[in-house]
Amino acid sequence: MEHPFFQQALPVIERLEEAGYEAYFVGGAVRDLFLSRPIHDVDIATSATPPEVKNVFTHTVDVGIDHGTVLVLHNGTGFEVTTFRTESLYSDFRRPDHVEFVRSLYEDLKRRDFTMNAMAMNKDGEWIDPFHGKDDIQKGIIRTVGRAVERFSEDALRMMRAARFVSQLSFDLDAETKQAMTENAPLLGHIAVERKLNEMDKLLAGRDKHRALSVLIETTLYQFLPGLAERKQALIRLAALSLERLTAEQVWVTAAYLCANNDAKSFLTDWRLPQKRIKRIVRSIHTLKQLQSKGASDWLFFQSGLQSAVDSTMAAAVLSGEEVDIKEVTSRFELLPIISRRDLAITGKELMEWADKPRGAWIKDVLERTERAVIAGDIRNDRMEIERWLRACNLL
Ligand code: ATP
Ligand code: MG
Repeated sequence: MEHPFFQQALPVIERLEEAGYEAYFVGGAVRDLFLSRPIHDVDIATSATPPEVKNVFTHTVDVGIDHGTVLVLHNGTGFEVTTFRTESLYSDFRRPDHVEFVRSLYEDLKRRDFTMNAMAMNKDGEWIDPFHGKDDIQKGIIRTVGRAVERFSEDALRMMRAARFVSQLSFDLDAETKQAMTENAPLLGHIAVERKLNEMDKLLAGRDKHRALSVLIETTLYQFLPGLAERKQALIRLAALSLERLTAEQVWVTAAYLCANNDAKSFLTDWRLPQKRIKRIVRSIHTLKQLQSKGASDWLFFQSGLQSAVDSTMAAAVLSGEEVDIKEVTSRFELLPIISRRDLAITGKELMEWADKPRGAWIKDVLERTERAVIAGDIRNDRMEIERWLRACNLL
């Protein structure tokens, strides 16, 4: 409880209690506190309804009022305060038809996904743990609150959440939970890709990604993920690699390389990744293929840029099973005389003046030849030296 996040939020809980309501810390932060994992934000659950919460505090923001969430601003920090609720009637395997506010903490904890996420802590640091989340955390087990088949058919995303917790926490799935994931896997087809991507990114950033990927394969969940339905062999290959040290982005590079049938752009677009990420991953795959066929070179690294040079080198290393010291890539990059066209001592404008020729495709060509010569160390990145060299080569 000495944790600064909890300390900061304590006055919010106290104020709600003074006003006659119940209030507790809940959710991921409580789980992570028990696990001694880093905490990024704390959630508060209360018996007060949203209008009641707004009456207690002077500064609030309606961030998710339909779901009962009010952001309370206290000492310059925002705290999400959510009214105890149950979720009833799931008719489409994703979101509840409506949420019902209730006055009982137990009811609120009961609608949560896994026992480890269904614990609460009061302001004195006392735990409320009706579903024995602490026991499961100690055993390293992910288990649904209540019957797994029911819980997954209410909200199929929970199956992806289970897999990503395997990766983040290195826990095992309880047998009934895993069995239910296998039975209900097709329901994942009803879930919006954006929500799947969010979980997939967390899965790929976790430590035990290979085990989580095996879970996706064993439960057949992969069949209901974009671009993976027909790619079982490729996924098995991916899961067998030493992925621990890779960032999520580097795993995306490796995954798209193995699973995308040479069309990484469509694969990543199907996953609804933002354009900027798609561009970078596609560039990294291009560099990866060059690394495999021709090996590393200054010119290749210059063309791909630092991020893609690092990501493709890491991907190439796990694919070949060879060790790589990534510092070699970064220091090689630092030694390049220029790291982008912007650094070149000349521009297209100067080329047009020197050659006395109008704008045209020739400029791009000459600039690239100049870049190559500078990167190769044939000439220095110096305006006059470049001009002399261009004239000597009859390029002007
Ligand atoms: P993270 O550390 O990634 O934030 P988290 O457990 O806090 O993990 P959130 O998505 O922030 O996950 O959700 C907060 C809490 O809300 C969870 O701990 C869980 O109690 C509950 N919850 C979230 N998503 C679901 C869901 N799909 N079904 C049931 N309960 C959920
Ligand atoms: Mg959270």
